[in-house]
Amino acid sequence: MKLIFELSVSGREGASLPELDVPEQELGIPDAKLRRDIPLPEVSEVDVVRHYTALSRMNFGVDSGFYPLGSCTMKYNPKVNEEIASFPGFKSAHPYQPEELSQGCLQILYELSRDLAEITGMDAFTLQPAAGAQGELTGLMMAKAYFKKRGETRKKVLVPDSAHGTNPASAALCGYEVVELPSDSQGGVDIVELENKATEDVAVLMLTNPNTLGLFEEKILQISEIIHERGGLMYCDGANMNAILGIARPGDMGFDMVHLNLHKTFSAPHGGGGPGSGPVGVKEHLARFLPIPIVQKEGERYFLDYDRPDSIGRLKAFYGNFSVLIKAYAYIRSLGPDGLKEVAENAVLNANYVMHKLKGTYELPYDRICKHEFVLSGKKQLALGIHAMDIAKRLIDYGFHPPTVYFPLIVKEALMIEPTETEGKETLDKFIEAMLKIAEESEKNPDLLRNAPETTPTSRLDALTAARKPNLRWRG
Ligand SMILES: *Cc1c(COP(=O)(O)O)cnc(C)c1O
Repeated sequence: MKLIFELSVSGREGASLPELDVPEQELGIPDAKLRRDIPLPEVSEVDVVRHYTALSRMNFGVDSGFYPLGSCTMKYNPKVNEEIASFPGFKSAHPYQPEELSQGCLQILYELSRDLAEITGMDAFTLQPAAGAQGELTGLMMAKAYFKKRGETRKKVLVPDSAHGTNPASAALCGYEVVELPSDSQGGVDIVELENKATEDVAVLMLTNPNTLGLFEEKILQISEIIHERGGLMYCDGANMNAILGIARPGDMGFDMVHLNLHKTFSAPHGGGGPGSGPVGVKEHLARFLPIPIVQKEGERYFLDYDRPDSIGRLKAFYGNFSVLIKAYAYIRSLGPDGLKEVAENAVLNANYVMHKLKGTYELPYDRICKHEFVLSGKKQLALGIHAMDIAKRLIDYGFHPPTVYFPLIVKEALMIEPTETEGKETLDKFIEAMLKIAEESEKNPDLLRNAPETTPTSRLDALTAARKPNLRWRG
């Protein structure tokens, strides 16, 4: 496929305008000079439409097929959320609009905060952070402010070895020393190690529950107690809330803070589909440290509260990614409490179904009932010289987006599969069939896997060279 610049024909234009019936005016930048200095492609409208339509058809998204990318919750995003977010009153609202003209928007922010607080068992929320990672930083900054207020200096943050990479990164960015916590043979926190490492200079334990192995941390109450006894705080990485919506709440597990990924659990598009949103909820004792402004209600009036002297300040311009907040609000309100609970039940059912069908053929290192995702190991296939990456690439030939590979780090040749609740049994069965076929191919015809994908516009890229020396020219 050609670049749009290669389609350029000198003098071709995208618009045909009628003859002028008013005197021609000089714009100050002569046309010819503009063309010379800014070498824009000279193409017709249909050239542009066909070029970008062809490009879009080379892409893969939740709207084109099954996308079981573990940890990322690539669920189908109902179009009604988009429709509502594009209502003129939301789309055209200006962040500097006076409060009295923004009452509807403020009401939605207020009610969304309340809904999220109820769902997570927290007392107050900020909707500002733009992603889960920024939520983590927000939480840790609040923890820092909390200990400073108490006159304590605590230097360490505990992070399990199964954690998402953003957890240690956020802690380091916030100036904490990261202490790694090993997992036990069941995939949970090792209590003996926790007892040893939870010293008096630990500020926070960051925990994902269910964790990145898709397993619920059954000793969570005991873990919270150990941390709290020693004066530390519990941070919940809530990226996996999809598994427990309407069933269990981080606030009831002893967590003091939680971030949510609205672009995962609450069905706003992500990846190439738009910006994220990572609201953070806290218990009452941390509410004074939340970023400013917070939306408050007085009588029937909503307003932005900036008068919060202990606040850690502002994390992001204005009030967060507003359109993502609207989509999450629409999602929550259209499902209601029973619908949200059903989301979690179906996400867990789908994951267990696929896990059960694949576990004989692929190694399942933690053989327990999973939550919304599970992690296989490609160890058996590795013995045949086939890597998790080969399996992932071959799935593309079968029309599926690959699962997450090589994460979490504690599973060798990890294949992390998250079907989500939005897929029907027929799709899951086709995926299972493809995975079983690939396992067979790895024995009988391993080159098929090593050379995969074959059906895509470009074959396997050298990911390292592609990142170091990008060649932006299409080879076809
Ligand atoms: C996605 C994810 C994050 C990071 O969230 P972003 O919104 O991508 O910044 C953190 N932890 C876990 C477990 C995740 O899945």
